[in-house]
Amino acid sequence: MASVFSKIINGEIPCYKIAEDEHYFSFLDINPVAEGHTLVIPKKEIDYLFDLDEDTLTGLISFSKKVALGIDKALGCIRTGVIVEGMEVPHAHVHLVPIHFEGQPMGLGRKTEISKERMQEVAELISKAIEL
Ligand code: AMP
Repeated sequence: MASVFSKIINGEIPCYKIAEDEHYFSFLDINPVAEGHTLVIPKKEIDYLFDLDEDTLTGLISFSKKVALGIDKALGCIRTGVIVEGMEVPHAHVHLVPIHFEGQPMGLGRKTEISKERMQEVAELISKAIEL
């Protein structure tokens, strides 16, 4: 069965889309730990990040860098942090978490309430700031 993330890529499940190219896709995490919390995934559905072949893995990191620089530019955060856990969705993904202040809690367990309107607005801001 296709993962929830493959369904997002295929347009079967809605998302706050950030960016996409031939091999990668990016969208806002639906349970953000901070405003602008973004996921970056390979279109190829592989569960474990380190089972990705070398080209897909390095491409994922390069694509994540472009998205992260877009987040920095769009949101004016002090930097963007990276988390990889992958215990919930069996489709490799990188979490990009904007760090807005020193000491900001970074754990994936916590959730920040953000309205649908603001999620849409933030997705558009980041999307426009990305140079692919
Ligand atoms: P993990 O697999 O532990 O790295 O976490 C999976 C992440 O995917 C969690 O942060 C979820 O909030 C996020 N997530 C799950 N379903 C969706 C969805 N439909 N849209 C956006 N993010 C999702």
